[in-house]
Amino acid sequence: MSTIQTGAGGRGLASWADSGRLSAERPGEAGFSNPLGRESRLQTERELGGRGEGVFKCPEDQLPLDYAKIYPDPDLEAQVLSLTIRCIHSEEGCRWSGTIRHLQAHLGTCSYNVVPCPNRCGTKSSRRDLPAHLQHDCPQRHLKCEFCGTDFTGEAFENHQGLCPQESVYCENKCGARMMRRLLSQHMLVECPKRTQPCSYCAKDFLYDTIQNHEYQCPRYPVPCPNQCGVSSIAREDLGGHLKENCTTALALCPFKEAGCKHRCPKLAMSRHLDESTKLHLGLMGALVTRQRQELAELRREVEELAVGSDGVLIWKIADYSRKLQEAKQRANYESFSPPFYTHRYGYKLQVSAFLNGNGSGEGSFLSVYIRVLPGQYDNLLEWPFSYRVTFSLLDQSDPSLSKPQHITETFLPDPNWKNFQKPGQGRASLDESLLGFGYPKFISHEDIKKRNYVKDNAVFIKALVEIPQKIMP
Ligand SMILES: [Zn+2]
Ligand SMILES: [Zn+2]
Ligand SMILES: [Zn+2]
Ligand SMILES: [Zn+2]
Ligand SMILES: [Zn+2]
Ligand SMILES: [Zn+2]
Ligand SMILES: [Zn+2]
Repeated sequence: MSTIQTGAGGRGLASWADSGRLSAERPGEAGFSNPLGRESRLQTERELGGRGEGVFKCPEDQLPLDYAKIYPDPDLEAQVLSLTIRCIHSEEGCRWSGTIRHLQAHLGTCSYNVVPCPNRCGTKSSRRDLPAHLQHDCPQRHLKCEFCGTDFTGEAFENHQGLCPQESVYCENKCGARMMRRLLSQHMLVECPKRTQPCSYCAKDFLYDTIQNHEYQCPRYPVPCPNQCGVSSIAREDLGGHLKENCTTALALCPFKEAGCKHRCPKLAMSRHLDESTKLHLGLMGALVTRQRQELAELRREVEELAVGSDGVLIWKIADYSRKLQEAKQRANYESFSPPFYTHRYGYKLQVSAFLNGNGSGEGSFLSVYIRVLPGQYDNLLEWPFSYRVTFSLLDQSDPSLSKPQHITETFLPDPNWKNFQKPGQGRASLDESLLGFGYPKFISHEDIKKRNYVKDNAVFIKALVEIPQKIMP
């Protein structure tokens, strides 16, 4: 018999028993010392078919054996126990080999042998994995918190880790402060310079260390009125409105400032100024009215100027003819004037006049018609004397579809020596002869004007036409 290769536990022994070399010379099991322990021996009995009835079968020929005839064989036992075997953990790496006799002793120290955790946590592990288990995994291992010094079993320690009130930690607000965890919440609530805090004026959130700066800008921060009006606390953003509207010391302008009063005083004192300055204000208002009247007159002139015709043709309607003729008969030299008109755009400013009861040689029985040059806007740009052909017409208002109208027409070239046709000078006196128009004292007799339809609906039309050569038109 050479070395028996054993597996784990009783299986190795079974193969040893299966080898059929059990001696059955002596009955009883006493003295059969199984080096592999009780469990292995029971298994051996089962494999041998034992039921405690003392019936065994021979593994060689399957014949029943009489249990009573089985007896220990000390010599064979000694022989067997001296066989050399490898450790049952050789496959896992144990390199031990020795006699079966010494196997049990080896297993007591074999680093591959499985042993229960000495902390009775229920875990079994190989002897060589045990230190790691005891140190890191065993829920029953004992640990001391390095911060608070408390003893913990493994599980409790894991729960304690990261929570130890004595552990030194950095402030979560990153203010740089370090303290025991148990002091942290208090720190973050009332001490940390990086804690957020609402501004007590505008209620927005700020870091504690910037809130002081914020107060210099906070729109709701209370400030006193700089005019010392008595208002001691007003939100910064409302100060402008206060100074403008409510501050009793704010300066106000006199309501007559448009009229020229330059007075400024605190609002409260204004009514006294108004009481005291009635005369002054009245004077200022009078002057203002005068200035405005002048402005109005100027405007009216400009508007009239704009309304003046500028195409060289005037058609002048004299309405209410019979009444005006009557008036002219009663008042010598009663002259009616047409609206002024321009010969062309930027041209000479002219005006037609009529003596309904005649003047000069036509006085009393003719209609006299004249034209005169008025001072115009563009006189400095024009050639003088005025020398363009003028045509007067008294229009026949007969219905053109019934008979061809027969207008009374006279045309003349201005006399270049006539004073009124010279360039109008500054400050022409009103009775200056340069104001005399040029025209026809006997344009039409009172007899002829009654003919046809020269007077219709108590109105006459006098037309003046100035012929301006095309080349001087703008
Ligand atoms: Zn071993
Ligand atoms: Zn354990
Ligand atoms: Zn602790
Ligand atoms: Zn902090
Ligand atoms: Zn604020
Ligand atoms: Zn004030
Ligand atoms: Zn005033």
